[in-house]
Parts: sequence; structure tokens; C-alpha cells
Amino acid sequence: MAYDPNNIFAKILRGEIPAHKLYEDEDTLVFLDIMPRTEGHALVVTKEKACDLFDIEPEALAKLIAVVQKLAPKIKEAVGADGVLIQQFNGEAAGQTVFHLHFHIVPIRRGVPVKPHAGQMEDQAVLAKTAEKIRKVLKG
Ligand code: AMP
Repeated sequence: MAYDPNNIFAKILRGEIPAHKLYEDEDTLVFLDIMPRTEGHALVVTKEKACDLFDIEPEALAKLIAVVQKLAPKIKEAVGADGVLIQQFNGEAAGQTVFHLHFHIVPIRRGVPVKPHAGQMEDQAVLAKTAEKIRKVLKG
């Protein structure tokens, strides 16, 4: 599949569409999922023009997963979760809906149901509050 430079994450990366940003470095942008499966559901997005896991050099992938590893425990702490689910979908048949490589960080709280993937849009004010909470922990 050819990379589409007008996919929604490419637009967020270019600043054409707003997002509740949590973290950014030279290679990676992290922001809240607009249809969170749980509180704190975040997306770790590469700045490479890669459709999926098989469309990126291993070195660039290593940088991306390193950000997942660094941020997931902090996001978990910020929302008071008990565990973290890391998800990554490749291809429409596997459930991928945005064809720009990213990992999902989904904090899991014992006894709190996980909503369906790409299900329901969250209120912007709720997302803003969650983002603030996470940014505070990331600042340290
Ligand atoms: P995937 O199905 O793995 O490609 O995941 C794409 C994710 O992007 C879904 O969980 C959507 O809820 C999420 N999403 C779609 N549009 C936006 C957006 N504008 N801002 C933040 N997250 C989004």
C-alpha cells in the first residue's frame, strides 16, 4: 500500500488538525486517542512516512518503540491504572483504521471495561483534562 500523505495523523503531524499532545521529539509525536478505549489511551506516532510496521526501517522502529516503553508506565501512573495494553494493527483486515504507523498505549484499570477499538468520540473537555494530568507526570 502506498503511503497517503493526507491521512489524519500526517495532518496532525503537520499541525493542520489539533490533537491533545503529550510528548514530542525529533522522530515521534504522542497524543491522546480521540476515541479512547480507556482513560489515558494514547497514540505513539512515528514521523516517518510509514503505513504500518512493515514499512519502516528497524532503526526508526526502535526509536518509536523506545518512546512506547518510556511513556507507557508514566501514563499508567498518571491515570491510576493497574496495567497497560500495547496494541498495534497492520492492515484493514486486522483492524487498522489510520494507515500511518503508530502504537496504542491503553492503560487498564482492574474492573473497568475496555471500550471497543475506534468506537465512540470522547468529549474534548474530558480529553483536555486527561492530557493535563498526564503532562504533569511527564514533566516530573
Ligand atoms: P488504528 O485503527 O490502529 O489505525 O488506530 C487509529 C486510532 O486513531 C483509533 O483508535 C482512532 O480512535 C484514532 N483517531 C482517529 N482520528 C483521530 C484524531 N483526529 N485524533 C486522535 N485520534 C484519532
